[in-house]
Amino acid sequence: MRHKNLLNSAPHNWSRRQFLGASLLGVTSMALSEQVMALEPKSLTIEQIEVFPVIYPTVMRFKFFEGPSGTGRPAVLVKITASDGTVGWGESVPIPRWSYETLESAVSTIEQYLAPILIGRNLFDLKGIHDVMNKEVANSFSTGSPITKSGIDIALHDLIGKVSGLNLAEFWGRKPGKELTLSWTINPKKLDDLESLIEKGRAQGFEHFNVKVAPDPTFDVEMCKIVRRLVPDGFLWADANGGYDLATALEVAPKLADLGVPVLEQPLKSNRLTGYQELKKQGALPIIMDEGVVSPVDLIEFIKLGCCDGASLKPARCGGLVSAAQQIEILEDAGLMFLGSGLTDPDVSLAASLILFGAYGLKFPAALNGPQFLGMSVIKDPFVPKGGKVRIPQGPGLGIEIDEEKLMLLVEQTKTQK
Ligand SMILES: [Mg+2]
Repeated sequence: MRHKNLLNSAPHNWSRRQFLGASLLGVTSMALSEQVMALEPKSLTIEQIEVFPVIYPTVMRFKFFEGPSGTGRPAVLVKITASDGTVGWGESVPIPRWSYETLESAVSTIEQYLAPILIGRNLFDLKGIHDVMNKEVANSFSTGSPITKSGIDIALHDLIGKVSGLNLAEFWGRKPGKELTLSWTINPKKLDDLESLIEKGRAQGFEHFNVKVAPDPTFDVEMCKIVRRLVPDGFLWADANGGYDLATALEVAPKLADLGVPVLEQPLKSNRLTGYQELKKQGALPIIMDEGVVSPVDLIEFIKLGCCDGASLKPARCGGLVSAAQQIEILEDAGLMFLGSGLTDPDVSLAASLILFGAYGLKFPAALNGPQFLGMSVIKDPFVPKGGKVRIPQGPGLGIEIDEEKLMLLVEQTKTQK
């Protein structure tokens, strides 16, 4: 029983495969192909790290992108140049209404704290790089500033893939997926808006819907009833983003289950662990964790405590791809549900999630809603879902090419907006 061993042993005692839960090179050393190994002696180092703060325009209302500084999706493009001139791109995707990281904190953390300690390091040494990043910007309850660090982690993966000629899936020793089925996000202000919101998704070929619920259980049950009626066969995934208290969650969970809602994600705030235990014990429907699961250690602790039936993975929340891949393996080992979602990722961070979920054979529609909500892309061949599915990039690294002209245009637009 692999998962028993994994969950019951201290990280330093884990076997090579189990070591995935604790070591960045767990993933990489396990899967490093001979091609990458052959490149390592060249000891390519990180020469330069540049950041490009932008605000992507949005084309639909999403509650997380409303705030005092106006609407739009903030992001920081991260460009890492290696000592041989090869370039890798990543993207940090802070949303202050989702967690505490902001556009400004991502920029200052990278420029003033992370870049200075990373310049000159061997770019293949992902474990060492994450170790020094976590030393410089330390933990709170878990990994500090994970969304910011994820931008660096993704750029390094892109860079290693570009240098080695491998798509990230191949880098992990896996087959790249071809396409992913997506879920359309519904977050109406009033029930009257539901039909047209669903119609909009269906018109684009979407068959699966994820609904934003909480805090009002009456509204939520009514909303899920309507969605279920309009989309009887789709995967109807309810995400509360920590918006219920325990009593409300215990009351609403069986009602959602009766309507055929298959999972309830993040019903309570992240630190209500005894509440999660109660909800899991109630057993009305699978309880999925999201916001609170940052590092692989957190996930193992929550599983051991009986807090969840699975987790929704997103590299940004986890501090990057290494941690996210480890967490998928932990879920697989524990026989728990692995769902895939995102933070309304623009195309660069979206590419990382698409490759990750494709490589790990995600079985459920992914709530990757960047293409649904964002009105601009900075890559040359933007991701456009067709029939509710989106292609998974196949080339080296992230398999995408940045359109630097479009990026500079967005950078300039952002300056005038701020
Ligand atoms: Mg979520």
